[in-house]
This record gives sequence, structure tokens and C-alpha cells, in this order.
Amino acid sequence: MFPEFVHSLAEHYAHLKAFHGCRPVSLSSYYEHGLQGQDADQLVLQFQAMFPEVPATDLNAAIGSVGDRSTRERGAIWLVGDDREMIEQYGHYIIQGSEYLMALAAHLGVSPRGEDYRFLLRERGIPTVLEVDVPIEIVQWRDIEEVAKMVLSVWGQEVTKRRVGSTPSPCYVIRRTIDAQYIRNHTHPDKIPDPHRGYIQYRNRQRSCDMCAADTATEDAGAARTGT
Ligand SMILES: [Zn+2]
Repeated sequence: MFPEFVHSLAEHYAHLKAFHGCRPVSLSSYYEHGLQGQDADQLVLQFQAMFPEVPATDLNAAIGSVGDRSTRERGAIWLVGDDREMIEQYGHYIIQGSEYLMALAAHLGVSPRGEDYRFLLRERGIPTVLEVDVPIEIVQWRDIEEVAKMVLSVWGQEVTKRRVGSTPSPCYVIRRTIDAQYIRNHTHPDKIPDPHRGYIQYRNRQRSCDMCAADTATEDAGAARTGT
């Protein structure tokens, strides 16, 4: 019976709502080129631009330590089905950015100035959560099964009126570009529990970006047209 349920779910819905945490310098490329999978070469260039003082030998050692991760995770995008969970449990992606950058930073440890490289990642970019309607045809079948399990669990708790606690939201690993048209919205959360500092609250001071400004400009133009 479960397989039939998964099939009907996949047929009934065109998209699954999901959220992606990141810390980009600019959001315009997401709105132009969509959400692209991990590209280790690009991330290494980004890391070098941020920390030009890191000697090549140290950086190469860090790249080596990250190992086959660059190929294993190449082209992958990680999303979670609940925006609250994204912020409350996976805030490190919003505060520090990509997993790969964090892995390089963790390997390098402490900078000559005595600062943890992972915390230095916080000096650039804008903490962001992207809201995406992922087309169901690019979601892996096992991820759709997780959604089905969650739906059944929530439904079961409703019907039996027995709460067994909150059901974790499904996570999605998408291995191709998600086109820009599926990005529905984005936010820059104010307070984010910080997983790398014992979940104490991180206060985000970067609350707007190039695309927030574009949104406001469009809204203003719309308001002007309708005379409201
Ligand atoms: Zn913005």
C-alpha cells in the first residue's frame, strides 16, 4: 500500500516546497542562473579570494583532506522541507555558507591572527534562506518516500489524536541545477541559533541584498502604476 501512496503523491504534486541556506555575496546569480550544484573548483577560488594570505601548500593540504568529497558532492544541492528547521537546526549553512568552504576552514584551523577560519567565513556574504518550489520530477525517489512517510505520520497523529512529537522534515539532495523560475522568495533571518557555538543566538546584521533592493524597486513601480 505504501508504494501506491508514494506514486499518487508524486503524481498529484508538481512541486515540493523546500528551503536552502547559504551565505552568498550577491543573490543576482541565483535569480539569473538558478540554484547550481556544488562546484569545488569555484569554491576553492572563492576561498582563495577571501583568504589570499593562506599559503598554497596549506590550502592544497586542506583540499586533499576534504578528499573525495569534492567529487562525491559535485553538482549536489541540499535543501530541507521546513524553513524553521532550516534556521533552528542547520543554521551553520546560513551563517557560514557552503559545507565545502566550512570543511576547508575547519582543516586550516586557526589563522595567524588567532581566529578560527570557520568564524572568518562570517565576514563576507549575506546570510540567506532561499524558498524554492522544487519540480517533483527532479526529486530522488527515496526523498519522495520520506515526504510520504512524513505525511502519513502527521495524518496518523491527527486521526488518532496522539502526538508522538514533531516529525522531522524531509531533506532533499538535488543533483542538477534548479532553474531560477523555481526560486519563489528569499529571506535574511535576523536571529539564527549557531550550531558551532552551542546554539547560542547569532544576530544577523546583513538584512538586505541586491535582490531585496530589486524586489522593492519592482513593488514601487507596481504601486506607482496602480496609483496606490
Ligand atoms: Zn535579499
